[in-house]
Amino acid sequence: MSSIDTLPPLREVIATHELSARKALGQNFLLDLNLTAKIARKAGDLSECDVLEIGPGPGGLTRGLLAEGARRVLAVEKDPRCMPALAEIAEAYPGQLHVINGDALEIDPLEHLSSPVRVAANLPYNVGTELLVRWLTPKTWPPFWQSLTLMFQKEVAERIIAQPGSKAYGRLALLAQWRSDAKIVLHLPPEAFSPPPKVHSAVVHLDALEEPRYPADAATLSRVVAAAFNQRRKMLRSSLKTLSPEIEDHLVAAGIAPTERAEQVSLEAFCTLARSLKPTE
Ligand code: SAM
Repeated sequence: MSSIDTLPPLREVIATHELSARKALGQNFLLDLNLTAKIARKAGDLSECDVLEIGPGPGGLTRGLLAEGARRVLAVEKDPRCMPALAEIAEAYPGQLHVINGDALEIDPLEHLSSPVRVAANLPYNVGTELLVRWLTPKTWPPFWQSLTLMFQKEVAERIIAQPGSKAYGRLALLAQWRSDAKIVLHLPPEAFSPPPKVHSAVVHLDALEEPRYPADAATLSRVVAAAFNQRRKMLRSSLKTLSPEIEDHLVAAGIAPTERAEQVSLEAFCTLARSLKPTE
């Protein structure tokens, strides 16, 4: 029998430790261990990896990650009520699960991790987006993580993988796709969670690229994309005019018609434009 089978079912864990879901912590738990194992498999080969899990809750995904052979799991959970349930899992996998009781937005988990590192999480959606943006904008590239496997509200997942010409296309798509391969690997209906949220969910998997897909200065690219999408209905010659007095020339040089709108411009063209603008321009 594997270690996961010796642990009680998640419904029992929740009842024993009185883990009634708290809305303020975005608690919608996954109780089906077949499903958490499936999500863990989407994270890739875990056998040689440390896995950083944010928001383990009662530990359904944690159990999946360990059962799928993670070398070590570092789990960061804000709710102290979950600690006894997580301690039971740590006991079943001696030396393989380290739990930190704290806020993932305030803790730097890096000192507890050895590379290669994969990240997996079913998080409240607002925290998930904030962490995703942080993980995609480190001071140096490649980042500490090899891959991110994260649950999002379906609409946010679609924004991450969106292509030019779609309504969902914007800053998040460009940020994610510039330095990673991003894809939706699983769709989940509200009933997959307890209690069910109001929205549909999707798991996004992002593999970090060794190098950015196209060369560009990160700060300049970010400035260009922010200006373009802050006024996404305007033509670029107008929305970007604060970036340079010669913005029309820069746009033409980058192969972008000055009359185009941000939504139609590819990642490659945004990178070409960022390279043509001096970082201080
Ligand atoms: N991973 C578990 C599962 O799939 O059943 C729980 C998912 S639940 C959507 C989100 C979890 O994140 C909760 O356990 C909640 O307490 C935790 N959480 C919320 N905000 C957090 C934060 N800032 N840092 C760490 N954990 C957080």
